[in-house]
Amino acid sequence: MSGHLGPPARGDERTALLAANLAAVGDRVRRACEAAGRDPAEVTVIVVTKFFPASDVRRLSGLGVQDLGESRDQEAAPKYADVRTDTPGLRLHFIGQLQTNKAASVARYADVVHTVDRLKLVGALDRAVTDARRRLRVLVQVDLERHRDQTARGGAHPTLIPELVSAIEASQSLDLGGVMTVAPLGVDPDAAFGQLAQLAGQVRALVPSASWISAGMSADLESAVRRGATHLRVGTAILGSRPPLR
Ligand SMILES: *Cc1c(COP(=O)(O)O)cnc(C)c1O
Repeated sequence: MSGHLGPPARGDERTALLAANLAAVGDRVRRACEAAGRDPAEVTVIVVTKFFPASDVRRLSGLGVQDLGESRDQEAAPKYADVRTDTPGLRLHFIGQLQTNKAASVARYADVVHTVDRLKLVGALDRAVTDARRRLRVLVQVDLERHRDQTARGGAHPTLIPELVSAIEASQSLDLGGVMTVAPLGVDPDAAFGQLAQLAGQVRALVPSASWISAGMSADLESAVRRGATHLRVGTAILGSRPPLR
């Protein structure tokens, strides 16, 4: 039974559950790669720890997980300030919608921001990262919703990608990693991720090193692998169900 949080587990049981869930997700990724004729080494699973405590991050780190994802600054900043000191080598991916006024905070601890979707955010992140004397890898989040007015998940309209790419390329401290999307609800994920793959090709034509395609979550990771995803963002299938959004 993967993906089940269940009653509060004692430490060792929780670690065993996380290990089993990680193994199950790893099997899914390997099978999907095999079916698609891809090398599993091309695909990174980012374990999304939002809503789960720092103790789970430490357990995951102990199990060899290096790529972790968070979506809310007010949760991620204190959690990872705490964890960073005793788990070196973590890569923290910020995957949530990012308000401009949180850019400076996120720029202090994130290694990658997956959700750059407007020029103002490029400017705010660049200033903050430059001030902090860091560099930051960023992905352009693409909105594939059919109806612009229904979008609630963030992301740039595909027609805006070239100007975002130019702005990131012109920045002082940002490195363009590639593209990211969340498959729209009610749309065949293969179609959405196929569209993302096309857009990723357009971005790579402009910036050959921007090879990341961040797509696929617990429910649709096979489809994302089929369509060329390089990074999967997996929460529920590894950590269990989250409490409902407040
Ligand atoms: C929470 C979240 C995920 C993980 O989703 P699961 O369905 O729990 O695997 C992936 N991507 C984004 C942007 C998220 O906010």
